[in-house]
Amino acid sequence: MLINLVTGGAGFVGSHLIDRLMEAGEEVICLDNYFTGRKKNISQWMGHPRFELIRHDVTDPIRLECDRIWHLACPASPVHYQFNPIKTSKTSFLGTYNMLGLARRVGARLLLASTSEVYGDPEVHPQPESYRGCVNTIGIRSCYDEGKRIAETLCFDYQRMHEVEIRVMRIFNTYGPRMLPDDGRVVSNFIVQALKGEPLTLYGDGSQTRSFCFVDDLVEGMIRLMNGSHTGPMNIGNPGEFTIRQLAELIRNNVNPQLPLIEKPLPADDPLQRQPVIDLARQELGWEPTISLEQGLEPTIDWFRKVLGLQPGGSAEVSS
Ligand code: NAD
Ligand code: UDP
Repeated sequence: MLINLVTGGAGFVGSHLIDRLMEAGEEVICLDNYFTGRKKNISQWMGHPRFELIRHDVTDPIRLECDRIWHLACPASPVHYQFNPIKTSKTSFLGTYNMLGLARRVGARLLLASTSEVYGDPEVHPQPESYRGCVNTIGIRSCYDEGKRIAETLCFDYQRMHEVEIRVMRIFNTYGPRMLPDDGRVVSNFIVQALKGEPLTLYGDGSQTRSFCFVDDLVEGMIRLMNGSHTGPMNIGNPGEFTIRQLAELIRNNVNPQLPLIEKPLPADDPLQRQPVIDLARQELGWEPTISLEQGLEPTIDWFRKVLGLQPGGSAEVSS
């Protein structure tokens, strides 16, 4: 039986991946330092004979036996990765370096959870994998964007120098149950604001775009990439493109159409547009998303209702 090491396994995406691996009868080691992950995301597997949990920081080396390394450990929300940007750079570089070292030692295949942020504020739209990006090296997002870029570089150098088997996945904005209510990302912010009866906060005028992938679709693409023969880099995301204002209207209309949208200052280096070209994933993995934004928002809103202790279908009164 294959032994899977999932770094960042107690986080949002990692815990959904673990569910899929456990349900498929595989063995899973979840490794996390709980910076943004929560034990309750994986509590359903605690005590299971095929599941182990290790509290560890990937910036320190670790020795263990495994066949597959799913390397997700890294904060993903701008609020979290900007909280301690030097630590974010360390996590991206040293964390990936340590996991590649482990992969080399034990002959494991490593999948890196990279990001659409490697394209920065793109001048090419939509973004194919061949686009090399437009990234600020010294801005407030650089610790994450440049961190993931060097992590990709390390993967390909370990492949060239040491024949480590790598898979590099560029994840576009993903949402779904188990996002943290206070993680600052746009989907969680808007849903929590709407459920609390608060105005929805558009940064800038809300004309910037993003493409939102439901987590179940993303995990399916991730598993296919790991099991296939293409190293990547490969975009995995939903090509449906929405302005942030459209997203706010969709969520508001779902929860409470009376709520106002208010504008707040746009953070520095906020990318204006983002949409994946997924031809490579279609061709190599036979993968494309199956869940529309409207469909995916439903279980996500239900999840936040539960987290906030609201009744099914309920939301708070409009607060002024
Ligand atoms: P998340 O913050 O929910 O999960 C990250 C996990 O990594 C958490 O459990 C956290 O505690 C853990 N972690 C952070 N630093 C660590 C360290 N030094 N040592 C050990 N564990 C550490 O974020 P997510 O949305 O689940 O993202 C997972 C991965 O996917 C990340 O690598 C992220 O960069 C990438 N990604 C996510 C998105 C998205 O929209 N969710 C988009 C692009 C890329
Ligand atoms: N955003 C917003 N209001 C919020 C949170 C985010 O308008 O309350 C915007 C943000 O400025 C960005 C987009 O939504 O343009 C996506 O932000 P997120 O932090 O989710 O992800 P990223 O910028 O990394 O794609």
